[in-house]
Amino acid sequence: MKSAKPVNPFSPLEIRKFILPVSLAAILALTGMIVEMFYLSAPANKYLIYVGIAGILYIFLCNILLVRFSNIRFAYGIINALVTSIGLGYLALNLPKDLAEINHILVVLGAIAIATISNRRYTYLFLAIILAISLPSGRTTLINLNSVLDYFMPIMVSVVAMEVIVRLKETANQHIHRLETINKVSRQIMQSLDTKQTLALLDATIQDTLEADTFFIGILEEDKINLKLFYDDGQYFDEIDAPVNGSLSGWVIKNQKELFLPDLREDVQLDDVEHFVMGTEKTSLSWVGVPLKAENITGVLALASYTANAFDRADLELLSSLGQHVTLALDNTIRHAQVEKQAQLDSLTNVYNHAYFLKRLAEQSEDSLITRSPLSLIMLDVDHFKQYNDTYGHLVGDRVLQGLCAAIQQHIKQTDAVGRWGGEEFIISLPGANRNQALQIAKRISGTLKKLQVRDRDQQIIPIPTISQGIAVFPKEADEIYRLIDIADKRLYTAKKRGRNQIEP
Ligand code: GH3
Ligand code: MG
Ligand code: MG
Repeated sequence: MKSAKPVNPFSPLEIRKFILPVSLAAILALTGMIVEMFYLSAPANKYLIYVGIAGILYIFLCNILLVRFSNIRFAYGIINALVTSIGLGYLALNLPKDLAEINHILVVLGAIAIATISNRRYTYLFLAIILAISLPSGRTTLINLNSVLDYFMPIMVSVVAMEVIVRLKETANQHIHRLETINKVSRQIMQSLDTKQTLALLDATIQDTLEADTFFIGILEEDKINLKLFYDDGQYFDEIDAPVNGSLSGWVIKNQKELFLPDLREDVQLDDVEHFVMGTEKTSLSWVGVPLKAENITGVLALASYTANAFDRADLELLSSLGQHVTLALDNTIRHAQVEKQAQLDSLTNVYNHAYFLKRLAEQSEDSLITRSPLSLIMLDVDHFKQYNDTYGHLVGDRVLQGLCAAIQQHIKQTDAVGRWGGEEFIISLPGANRNQALQIAKRISGTLKKLQVRDRDQQIIPIPTISQGIAVFPKEADEIYRLIDIADKRLYTAKKRGRNQIEP
């Protein structure tokens, strides 16, 4: 567990509530002292009655100041430690020996109060001052074991009480810090529609809240786990793949269960899991993983450490909670990307729609000017398609359009773009291709389309329509995309006029 910033996790009102029993006990002890002085003590000690009353008033004042001056807790804390220690040191010096017990009780109560209000440092300061002040009187009694114990016992009890309180506070602080981080990150993560940003937030959160030598998020892709974020021994590894079978991550994904393995040296009894090392060659000894599952995502979020027993159940809970937020966020980003992608595509043919094709073409033309390479455009239209639809039906016509697009995709590169310009008219951009190359591609598309087999309702193979195509080259013939499209369109019209089923370069 990583330690959080050393701030007091509690509000002034909460602290006042915690120290109320301490205050009451101290008031009781001081009242006892006053009563003793009043009835029993020698007249020489009567002034201690006023010291007792001052002590009680100070405790009341403290309870008020604590809340009023919470904004200057630092100054208040040190003043309180000084005043209390000097007061109690003075009492230790001046109280009659038979009333030493009262002082011992007050020292322990004071230490508890200061540890609760302030911190470890001020409590030690408090105890050191008391020891220093009471040393002259103490020295005379440091002659036998009993007196030594008498002298140090309240200090020892105080130290123990303080350590318990400070440690409880630290632990509470850690939990609060973790919850705050999770809260903050989950809010940010849910707003993020970008996968990279989501992963960066997850990375920062794990670094901030968990002490792990290794952590990763793996997303199931077919038969492997793609590690989107993989940190190991101080370095990041880019998109590594891990097998589903035989790996701990695969087990978590397959079983959709959390896996908490505090010590991998022990015999791990899991179905078909062998030990699997990724990243650096060091072997992890602790491993914690949680499954990620949503509509569009299946994966695993895991932590590992080179030391055994590095994680506890609280880490598992934190990871699990983080996992849930990340799952939702990634599911969201994937869905968003799908919607965005869908908005770019034509629903019948899955090629770009008119608007998105224009956007791509604009980008490609800019690149073409920068790289000083040509960009060819093919405008393509199905011949007599109205008649074809009338003869074979609209559904058959649809299948021809899908087949035509498949034929186009067969002959173009990843960097080329196809768009549905409208109806049965398509447009293809070929960055880097000159007129001749574009002509070859146009011929191949026609050739492939001819071989397309389409059946009618009665499963009879029916003829395929021909296509006409026009080609224009950027920036040679037009250095502006709308003019380029216009030229390609005019050439297509020329091809139609000449009798269709041909290419006009
Ligand atoms: P031309 O050779 O001059 O291009 O003749 P044409 O009949 O193809 O030209 P026209 O523009 O007159 O007709 C286009 C036809 O394309 C009209 C419409 O029935 C058909 N069409 C447009 N979009 C679709 C579609 O999504 N599916 C089907 N099946 N047909 C479509
Ligand atoms: Mg047509
Ligand atoms: Mg047309």
